[in-house]
Amino acid sequence: MNTQYDPDRAALGDLLAAEPRYRIDQLWDGLYRQGKEFAELTTLPAALRARLAEELPPALTEVTRSVTDEGDTTKWLWELAGGARVETVLMHYEDRSTVCVSTQAGCAMACGFCATGQAGFERQLSVGEIVEQVMAARRAAGGRRVSNVVFMGMGEPLANFDAVWAAVHRLHDDVGIGARHLTLSTVGIVPGIRRLAGEDLPVNLAVSLHAADDALRDELVPINRRYPLAELTDACEAYVEATHRRLSFEWAMIEGVNDRFADADRLAGLARRLRAHVNLIPLNSTPGYPVRGSSRNRVHAFHDRLSAAGVNVTVRDTRGSDIDAACGQLRAGHEARPVPAPRRR
Ligand code: SAH
Repeated sequence: MNTQYDPDRAALGDLLAAEPRYRIDQLWDGLYRQGKEFAELTTLPAALRARLAEELPPALTEVTRSVTDEGDTTKWLWELAGGARVETVLMHYEDRSTVCVSTQAGCAMACGFCATGQAGFERQLSVGEIVEQVMAARRAAGGRRVSNVVFMGMGEPLANFDAVWAAVHRLHDDVGIGARHLTLSTVGIVPGIRRLAGEDLPVNLAVSLHAADDALRDELVPINRRYPLAELTDACEAYVEATHRRLSFEWAMIEGVNDRFADADRLAGLARRLRAHVNLIPLNSTPGYPVRGSSRNRVHAFHDRLSAAGVNVTVRDTRGSDIDAACGQLRAGHEARPVPAPRRR
């Protein structure tokens, strides 16, 4: 791919072969630190600006932009080259602003409760397509600095490892976002977690657990059949050991399926062993899934049970659910394939 943010520094340098050496610094700094468009880089000669804009067009075309929470949550629907569509969400909080980016158009992991999984896989995103989501959100954020990036939008980041890792580096090295402000979320691709443990930036790792026994997890998160819990937790342990980063477990609460005290107790065992933080997510509604989220009371009882067992636990807010921008609701306009209900237990 060759869009605005795809070339690395060396490749961009090649495009400037005829220019003085300092041009690449001006260009790189302008693009990433300052977040400017080519046309705005007035330190560069006009002809060069025009040539760059033509050779490296933007990757994302805005289809729609939805805003809620009194302007604090924005969701974009983008169209990419070839027609694939993805979504990005920007969330302002009192103390930070977080962008949630997509890493694939669609997703092959087929988790039944997730709208992206219900629609299936379309294609990988390139590094430029991932980075541009952050740059666009950063521009829209105006005076508020985008402080955090979470790879929790459409797609499975560790199933697009190279592009995702290049994007992580670009955001860290060039945009200037610290490793502890970057979070990768995975459904539990064990070789990806192991590879991550050997990389040079200790980013936060979130694992979408949702079940702490293999029988239930096989059903909720089908990739568990390939990478069962014992292997997953070993890989998580290796990640924590290598990076000293806090791990977190995501747990979407589904009524009658994974919200009993027996589930909480099993989860508490795992979380304590790995010293993981638990994020409870009240299930957000999706078109293809015939179940309900746990009641507010149930979520609180589950929370208290974990807390009493010594687990660090928070309940995630359902930001943006009214514009289908909350966890598991991103589907970029795609139809859901109906998914059978999980067994109630
Ligand atoms: N594929 C990666 C990145 C997506 S992150 C992963 O699975 O981690 C999106 C998060 O929202 C995941 O934790 C996912 O399990 C969760 N989620 C999916 N569907 C949901 C729903 N309907 N309600 C609440 N959370 C959901």
